[in-house]
Amino acid sequence: EQELTRDVLIVGAGAAGLTAANELRKAGLSVVVLEARDRVGGRLWTDVIDGAMLEIGGQWVSPDQDALIETIGELGLETFSRYREGDSVYIGPDGVAHRFTGEMFPVAPETEKIIAEITERLDAMVAEIDPDRPWEHPRAAEWDSVSWDAWLRAQTDDDEAVRNLAFATGSAMLTKPTHAFSLLQSLLMAASAGSYSNLVDADFILDKRVVGGLQQVPLRLAERLGEDVLLNQPVRTLEWGDDGVVAHTDSVTVRARHAIIALAPVLYNRISFVPPLPRRQHQLHQHLSMGFVIKVHAVYERPFWREQGLSGTAFSPYELSHEAYDNTNHDDERGTLVGFVSDQNADDLFTLSAEERRERILESLSHYYGPEAKNPIVYYESDWGSEEWTRGAYAASFDMGGLHRYGGDLRTPVGPIRFACSDMAGAGYQHVDGAIRMGRLAAAQIIEQLRQ
Ligand code: FAD
Repeated sequence: EQELTRDVLIVGAGAAGLTAANELRKAGLSVVVLEARDRVGGRLWTDVIDGAMLEIGGQWVSPDQDALIETIGELGLETFSRYREGDSVYIGPDGVAHRFTGEMFPVAPETEKIIAEITERLDAMVAEIDPDRPWEHPRAAEWDSVSWDAWLRAQTDDDEAVRNLAFATGSAMLTKPTHAFSLLQSLLMAASAGSYSNLVDADFILDKRVVGGLQQVPLRLAERLGEDVLLNQPVRTLEWGDDGVVAHTDSVTVRARHAIIALAPVLYNRISFVPPLPRRQHQLHQHLSMGFVIKVHAVYERPFWREQGLSGTAFSPYELSHEAYDNTNHDDERGTLVGFVSDQNADDLFTLSAEERRERILESLSHYYGPEAKNPIVYYESDWGSEEWTRGAYAASFDMGGLHRYGGDLRTPVGPIRFACSDMAGAGYQHVDGAIRMGRLAAAQIIEQLRQ
């Protein structure tokens, strides 16, 4: 049994926890990071599968994500742009692959007009939302009691317009069925990226990647902390009081004046808090749940779609894989496609055998790129739902009505305990950028408190 004493204990070696630990170190405080897994990075995980480097977790960086961009620069990492030359593909209700350029899907002129009008309405609503405090909007309660689907259906009878508007925050972001979260939650998702229009602009939201993989961010942050990052140490018990905390894993005890819990909120209840957390936290944490998406990687001898003048960017609210992109690595001759299967489609796929799943997903990709898509040399499904220390993807969001009811207490400290995670961010919500922002915030608050 190892016993350690530090100024601050950090639980979780994801982007949030490692950012906080580095900030605290810079301020001259002693830290230790306890991580449940045998690796750092949490939802950032770059690995080589059958000879192909894959981004199993988060990977894209968008131009508004200052905190992430600054961190990438500071760590000496390089970025490259997602391949986007040529035509994108859209499949509508007719099941036919239509080529298009620009942001608007090739839909009937009437549908296009409706999408443009509702987008304008949404942008105006989003502009009124402070992503750090969406619950303070005067209409927060009202917007939190109507589902995203119901609100859209009240704007128009055009089913294709509704599906296309719905999926930007639904299948593509919160990865929950659109009846399962509120209009307010959807507006927060858009506000966290600056506007609804930004969110639907793939060239904005999926702009750049890091050469060598985004997991290098947590890997390099952890390197700086050296032996103060302990792997294979799930925190089982956290005693807390006026003097600080005592944390127990199976083999380590840490005493510290402050603690930062840097995990997805759905995992807080894996820790026994002694005494228990206040009732407000007990309630609040039960109204957050993870979305669910399968990220599918298919690697080919060459990026064959480029030869057909395709960018690789593909969308369809009618397809099993509702979006897919060219995800070829920097300086790689082989071509990689990445597709996503979200919420109920993902549930359904996991009732099938691995072979059937692969067949169904590749069939869907072939609708966008042609029959060659059916024969990758490497095929892999990121299955975060079965990861004990994550339990879904990409992140957690509130159920209907939960955001305005409990959102205000998401980041409220409990005695010496603070919470930090991408899933409680304003700007960069559900993204690495938000994780870094929350890590910085928790560290800054502790530094400030110790100065007093
Ligand atoms: P996490 O990364 O979840 O870190 C929490 C850590 O705590 C984990 O390492 C976990 O093992 C550990 N832990 C949990 N419980 C305990 C315990 N009891 N004791 C000790 N340790 C514990 N974001 C983007 O910006 N761009 C993208 O393109 C993108 N794509 C994504 C694709 C996928 C498939 C997924 C899953 C996520 C994606 N995201 C993306 C989201 C992004 O990866 C996350 O928002 C971010 O990495 C979360 O960081 P975090 O530090 O807040 O939490």
